[in-house]
Amino acid sequence: MLDIKKIRSDFPILHQMVHDSPLVYFDNGATTQKPDRVISRVQQYYENENSNIHRGVHYLSQEATSMHEEAREVIRKFINAPQSKEVIFTKGTTESINLVASSFGKKFISEGDEIIVSEMEHHANIVPWQLLCEEKGAHLKVIPIFEDGSLDMEAFKNLLSDKTKMVAIAHISNVMGIINPIKEIIDLAHARNIPVLIDGAQGVSHTKVDVQALDCDFYVFSGHKLFAPMGIGVLYGKETWLEQMPPYQSGGEMIDQVSFEKTTFNELPFKFEAGTPNVGGALGLAEAIKYISEIGLDDIEAYEKDLLEYGTQRLLEIEDLRIIGTNANKASVISFVFEKIHHFDAGTILDQMGIAVRTGNHCAQPLMKRFGISGTIRAAFAFYNTREEIDMMVVAINRMRKMFV
Ligand code: PMP
Repeated sequence: MLDIKKIRSDFPILHQMVHDSPLVYFDNGATTQKPDRVISRVQQYYENENSNIHRGVHYLSQEATSMHEEAREVIRKFINAPQSKEVIFTKGTTESINLVASSFGKKFISEGDEIIVSEMEHHANIVPWQLLCEEKGAHLKVIPIFEDGSLDMEAFKNLLSDKTKMVAIAHISNVMGIINPIKEIIDLAHARNIPVLIDGAQGVSHTKVDVQALDCDFYVFSGHKLFAPMGIGVLYGKETWLEQMPPYQSGGEMIDQVSFEKTTFNELPFKFEAGTPNVGGALGLAEAIKYISEIGLDDIEAYEKDLLEYGTQRLLEIEDLRIIGTNANKASVISFVFEKIHHFDAGTILDQMGIAVRTGNHCAQPLMKRFGISGTIRAAFAFYNTREEIDMMVVAINRMRKMFV
């Protein structure tokens, strides 16, 4: 079991008052808070170790280079990637998806091809594919979802065809917390030799990820949703694809030989890492991974499941409250709406009582359209949240309701 008191003491930001109430931070789907050892790691880097990497003969540069590569190795182990050269550092999920859409698209997508996404995707896993389709004369196909938020897998099977060149799907919905059957999706796509990209922005912080067991072709995530700094993220890709894909951005680091006649490119992973990378961010991400691995992802998952069940039950006690995404296979994310209270008003009033929830369309406008709503109120729990905080939110919601009904 988790020692929640100790865990909460690791996160300095949690211990503050907001509008004269203790902060209840439930906006973990947007970004997670950072434990002090991650903050210290980044500070230590800038205080004692800062240097540009891969190109210096001096001590600091060599130290920074080896720490950066050790961080890559920590990430490799965390997702069980076969080789560290298959782990590319990016700015985050958005950049990772853009990289694949642009580079894979350049090489492998042509007129008449099809790319499959789902109705629950974040805009980051829609728009890059849509732009690619427009550029290439390809078509975006969409897996519909059922009323309970789960994917219509029969419809997915029917969408797969010889024209399909990529399936790009969220591991866990950022709006509803629904956990998609990604293994089944990957196996169905692979039966037709179609590669699959998993948007793991919400996946890695809630559940163990093993890219070899999944056999996904690409898995992408952001450090800042995994208790690490903003501006660092990961693209895992199978070597076979990455070797065939052209560079995404060009400049320093990603080259082998440059002349005005011809440039040759660096080996993986550097071919996809143009320019000075976010070394401090990479070290912070590795530290965050060590931190959660020491706590244990199985225990984190079990604890968050309890928060999900307790939160669902408590929220359903509130009159007129409707949960969006009722399928049982969920991570600790609850989106809800009220018939007569706008989500924006609800979020603003809850904030006045110290409760930080997310409101709006959560960068998933097509999903909002599917449910005929303009937005939701989203409480996304992390392992530093507690049942008591859920109780505080319920009290606050009941007070808020009294102002409207
Ligand atoms: N996909 C999903 C499922 C997300 O939740 C998010 C962030 N809300 C993103 C992609 C984009 O992540 P980032 O903004 O860190 O690039």
